[in-house]
Amino acid sequence: MPFCEDCAKYWAPAAMAVDGSCPTCGRVLEQPKVQAVARGGERPSLRELAGEDAKAPWHFKLLMVALAVYLGWRLLDLFGIV
Ligand SMILES: [Zn+2]
Repeated sequence: MPFCEDCAKYWAPAAMAVDGSCPTCGRVLEQPKVQAVARGGERPSLRELAGEDAKAPWHFKLLMVALAVYLGWRLLDLFGIV
C-alpha cells in the first residue's frame, strides 16, 4: 500500500489519482500497473496485474482438499453407503 511521507498517510490504490500521485499533495507515490500494461495496446490479464509470484497459498489448497474430502464423505453418508 503506497505511503505518502509528506502527508503521513497510507493511500489505497483506488483512492490515488489515475497517474499514481497523492490526491492531496500531488507527489508521485507509485507507477500505476494498469496503465503501464495497457499502454502496450492490449487489455491486461489478472495474472499480469498480480505479478509473477501471485498464487494461492498452501493453506488455501489444503483447505480445498479438506473441503472436498468432507463433502465427499457427507455425500456418501447421505446415500447410506458408509
Ligand atoms: Zn501527499
